[in-house]
Amino acid sequence: MSDYQQRIAGSFQERKRLNQLRKRKENLRFWSEFRIIPRWLIVLVIVLFFAAQVIAFVVNTKVLAPNGEIFPPELKNDVALASLALAGIVTGVSLVIATMLFAIAYVNRDAKRRGMNSALWTILVIILLPAWGFIGFVIYLLMREPLPYPCPECGTAVGARFNFCPNCKCNLHPSCPQCKHEVGELDKFCPNCGNDLKTAGDAIQAPA
Ligand SMILES: [Zn+2]
Ligand SMILES: [Zn+2]
Repeated sequence: MSDYQQRIAGSFQERKRLNQLRKRKENLRFWSEFRIIPRWLIVLVIVLFFAAQVIAFVVNTKVLAPNGEIFPPELKNDVALASLALAGIVTGVSLVIATMLFAIAYVNRDAKRRGMNSALWTILVIILLPAWGFIGFVIYLLMREPLPYPCPECGTAVGARFNFCPNCKCNLHPSCPQCKHEVGELDKFCPNCGNDLKTAGDAIQAPA
């Protein structure tokens, strides 16, 4: 690797570490996260679920049963029990499909609010679903950018990739005063030179 490549890889690693630090502070809760899924999709899924139940029940009892067939075939002699078993199967399948739809909708909305390429990530998750299940969703959770967060000086929402606050020019990527290497806000020691960042007092200052 050339010096240039090494520096690019190094700064990529460094940015990744700082992004991880910031994401750990996000402290997301499942139900508040669930709320970013659009209301209309939740209603649609519920409506489709009941429609599937009714269709399955009607087809089974009014179309198949008069011809001496019923699903599941082992319960041919007990229409009530067969209907109940079918309802259970429809519920199970619906749960899997609903989870997939909600995962896709979540990625779509979440990527948008994080300033990522929402269309691209949504397509990726959909493409991977049939063969790889929720792998695309997991990749997304690992790769996603941190949420915009309030500027430590003035509270304006700033993107994770901003270097300075657009409102007050606060330096959003503090650096070690000794080696000028970028450090995380929560770092106690500089990961590059080991300088104690806490005792350095007003240590966190703009890069030279
Ligand atoms: Zn600010
Ligand atoms: Zn340092």
